[in-house]
Amino acid sequence: METVVDASTSEEANGSAVEKKPIVVFVLGGPGSGKGTQCAYIVEHFGFSHFSAGDLLRAEMNSGSENGLMIRSMINEGKIVPSEVTVNLLQQAMEESGNDKFLIDGFPRNEENRAAFEAVTGIEPAFVLFFDCPKEEMERRILNRNQGREDDNIETARKRFKVFLESSLPVVEYYESIGKLQKIDAARPIEEVFESVKTVFASINEKVKPHGRAEKKFTLLKLQLKWKMNLLRNGVCKGY
Ligand code: UDP
Ligand code: MG
Repeated sequence: METVVDASTSEEANGSAVEKKPIVVFVLGGPGSGKGTQCAYIVEHFGFSHFSAGDLLRAEMNSGSENGLMIRSMINEGKIVPSEVTVNLLQQAMEESGNDKFLIDGFPRNEENRAAFEAVTGIEPAFVLFFDCPKEEMERRILNRNQGREDDNIETARKRFKVFLESSLPVVEYYESIGKLQKIDAARPIEEVFESVKTVFASINEKVKPHGRAEKKFTLLKLQLKWKMNLLRNGVCKGY
C-alpha cells in the first residue's frame, strides 16, 4: 500500500518533506502516569493539538451514540475498545482541528491499535513519549485525582494496569526497538517531569517547529486527500 511515508520519500529528495507532513507524537504510559497533565503543558509551549483517546471515547460514550454502551462496558472493565472506533474518533478530531501537529495521548494501547492507525491514516509518529512510573505511584494518583471517572477505582485501576502490562508495553517496546522512544521518569513532581519533556521537544525542535499558515493549510489538504485515498483502497476499516 502506498502511504504518506512513500510520498514523503520523494519529497525528502527535494528537501521539503519534514515541513509538509503532519507531525504526530504518541504519548504513552500506564494509567495515572501523568500523560494528560503533561500534554496540557506541551500544548501551551509547542502548539500541538492534543487528543486523548480516552477522553474522545468518554465523549462518544456520553453522546448517546450506538457505540456508547459498548464503550462504557469496555472502559469499566479496563479493556481496549476496538481500534475501528478509536481510530475513527482520532481521525475525525485531527481533521477538524485545522492543525498539523498532533499529540495523541493514551493511544496506541495495543498492536492492533498501532497497525490500524497506520493503515487508515498512513501516518507514523515522529517519536513516542513514554512516561515511566511505578505502579504504586500510579495507583496513588488515580485514587487521589477526583475527576469523577467511573474507572478511577482500585478494582478497575488494577485491571487497567494489567492490560497496560500485557498489551500496551509491547507497543512501547516496539517503538524502543525502532529508536523512536523517548522515555521520561514520570515519578517526579509535575514541573520536574515537564523539564525533561521540554528537553526532548527542544532537541527535536527542527521537526516540531511551528508551521506557517499556508504550509498548515496545504498539509491539511494533503492529509484529507490521503485519508480519502486510503479509505477507497481499504474500505472503512477493513484490512488490519
Ligand atoms: N481506552 C481504549 N482505547 C484507547 C484509549 C482508552 O479502549 O485508545 C479505554 C480503556 O478502557 C482505558 C480507558 O479508556 O482503560 C481510559 O483511558 P485513558 O487513557 O483515559 O486513561 P488514563 O491512562 O489516562 O488513566
Ligand atoms: Mg488520561
